[in-house]
Amino acid sequence: MSNFIPNSHPRKESLDRRYQLERASEKGLLAGTAMIAHGRGEAFDYLLGEQTIPIAEEATIQAAIMLKSATRPIISVNGNTVILAGEELIACAALLSCPIEVNIYYRSNERVSGLIGYLEVCRKFVSEHPPSNWQRSPEEWMNLVNDVLILGAYADGLIPGLEGPRATCDVNGILAADVILVPLEDGDRCQALINMGLKVIVVDLNPISRSSLMSTIAIVDDVTRFSRNLKKNLLNFQRLKRKKWENKKALQNALDNINNRLQNLIE
Ligand code: ATP
Ligand code: MG
Repeated sequence: MSNFIPNSHPRKESLDRRYQLERASEKGLLAGTAMIAHGRGEAFDYLLGEQTIPIAEEATIQAAIMLKSATRPIISVNGNTVILAGEELIACAALLSCPIEVNIYYRSNERVSGLIGYLEVCRKFVSEHPPSNWQRSPEEWMNLVNDVLILGAYADGLIPGLEGPRATCDVNGILAADVILVPLEDGDRCQALINMGLKVIVVDLNPISRSSLMSTIAIVDDVTRFSRNLKKNLLNFQRLKRKKWENKKALQNALDNINNRLQNLIE
């Protein structure tokens, strides 16, 4: 089957991303349920108009400030996140000088090392392509990117209160962090991270998932769009303004946005 989607197709981007996940799946990088999780996300994205809504822009700014002000920030990624946002998140980790840790729900050593290998390929590309508004030298960019620690292979710690292999994490990664960015997190792992005293930033297109409701900041946006925006904000960090964040209010705003959109569609 040809995966070529013409540029004129109205949903080209969405279809291209499905093929990206399909290819990753064929290479054994994703669990069997990855497509189901993506489909749930897509359904919500359709309701949002496949665009970043204003409250998600604001949440991303507050997330950038929280990560930049952290003592030991970390970015934790699962399979879908690596495939859909690997390059942008490597760039974000470089801008934050923080590690990226691969944590997958159905842990297998083969998949963890496959995803780390994929991130290493992303790293090489990103290191050779500084952001367009990068003010310092290309060498400095390359060094920042090459210094990013990619953790997960030798995970030797456990997230307290979680059962099974998905509790596995790195002692020098998640267990040492104070702020964690963890896109597409599962609800009860999010709760366990909050119980550890971490500030938890999730990215989830579903504003009523348990992860969204439990997190410190939930960004109701697609992980690829979010990662691009986060990078842009980290590059413009001096101009960002901190504000008190009320997560539940922000989630209600996202639901209202969906509601208004639907009302206008049928009126
Ligand atoms: P929870 O455990 O938090 O209640 P869930 O069990 O409903 O969530 P999971 O299957 O654990 O959901 O994870 C998938 C989540 O990731 C869904 O909430 C879905 O909306 C979200 N999601 C999937 N793809 C994307 C994407 N590309 N960008 C942002 N969010 C996504
Ligand atoms: Mg879940």
